[in-house]
Amino acid sequence: MQERIAPLIDARAAGRQLIVPTRRTPPTGEPRDKLQRPLRDLRISVTDRCNFRCNYCMPKEVFDKRYKYLPHSSLLTFEEIARIAAAFSQHGVRKIRLTGGEPLLRKNLDRLVEQLAQLSTPAGNPLELTLTTNASLLATKAAELKAAGLSRVNISLDALDDATFRRMNDVGFPVSKVLAGIEAAQTVGFSRIKVNMVVKRGTNDHEVIPMARYFYGTGVTLRFIEYMDVGATNGWLMSEVLPSSEVISRIQATLPLVPLPPANDGETAVRWGYTDGAGRYDPALGEIGVISSVTRAFCGDCNRIRLSTDGKLYLCLYASQGWDLTRLLRAGKSDVDLAAAIATLWEQRSDRYSELRGMTGPAIEKTARRIEMSYIGG
Ligand code: SAM
Ligand code: SF4
Ligand code: SF4
Repeated sequence: MQERIAPLIDARAAGRQLIVPTRRTPPTGEPRDKLQRPLRDLRISVTDRCNFRCNYCMPKEVFDKRYKYLPHSSLLTFEEIARIAAAFSQHGVRKIRLTGGEPLLRKNLDRLVEQLAQLSTPAGNPLELTLTTNASLLATKAAELKAAGLSRVNISLDALDDATFRRMNDVGFPVSKVLAGIEAAQTVGFSRIKVNMVVKRGTNDHEVIPMARYFYGTGVTLRFIEYMDVGATNGWLMSEVLPSSEVISRIQATLPLVPLPPANDGETAVRWGYTDGAGRYDPALGEIGVISSVTRAFCGDCNRIRLSTDGKLYLCLYASQGWDLTRLLRAGKSDVDLAAAIATLWEQRSDRYSELRGMTGPAIEKTARRIEMSYIGG
């Protein structure tokens, strides 16, 4: 086993029992957690499998032939996912993100998209429905996803240099196929495409400027994500985090930027816009984003909840236990029961891991049971 990669302690089965409250009030559309945060963003993992082995997420020493993926019977069906998503839409969720593992490995994903695209907020507005993908299969699936009603795509790409990218995905996947996926998404009419780059100092930080130059003025928003201490297997070290402030200062030196206001509440990325000759933001040149999950905690307005492939709800990316919704669904509970259980769960939430990590310093003890990102999605 490669140095620093930690063996996996499987925390997936340890779901906690979700309770349907005896006094059920109808969904108000606005449950607040203990820190007064609303519920706006539901991230649904549709598979725990992936065809990449990015070292920061699914190191191949752990996710090898012996690793036991979830059995098919424990996966939520599309109908179950749609029921859950409908309950969330009544509670104020405005955005649904499909993720994984690699979501495009789930067969007939466009059929799930079709069902989710029917949902609306209590005020009658459609939900924003997005997909986060490594784009390996996007070129063949972009058209059907667009036709099914997907609003947007986020694509992960960690380098333009082929050797660096192949090393990072650890299965020798070429950059050219990801770029073909991005092009296919543009061709079928997706706009506001975002490309996410996880930056690891000493691994791909030399790609920050080439990536910025490549997407400059293309309409694609490049976002730099600080390498996070998610999961328990990736051997995370603070010394490999390139702080977003350094990303910005490196880009500023060649492509001038100005700060932009957040586009919406609870946005994880801080936006920066490219400027024209007069130093003003020029929308034609576009913008970048930095997601500073390590150096600048954004728990204060975290309105996100995650649903694992096997139907457990996670209140924080760093949680070690989920809340078992599948048991309620498969015990025949009604939609009202489900909605009430979800609201009660949200109302007892007080998670703010990144803020606490900031107070304790990077030496905060890592719990070996912390759930893996490939299981609950990014
Ligand atoms: N397979 C899809 C993909 O890669 O886009 C979706 C799932 S992946 C878990 C979602 C996002 O999490 C990706 O953008 C990935 O780069 C990011 N991610 C995974 N592990 C990470 C880590 N340790 N630090 C920061 N981002 C991470
Ligand atoms: Fe797969 Fe995405 Fe994780 Fe990479 S980041 S291993 S593509 S799930
Ligand atoms: Fe939200 Fe948890 Fe991340 Fe804080 S650490 S922003 S609470 S997911």
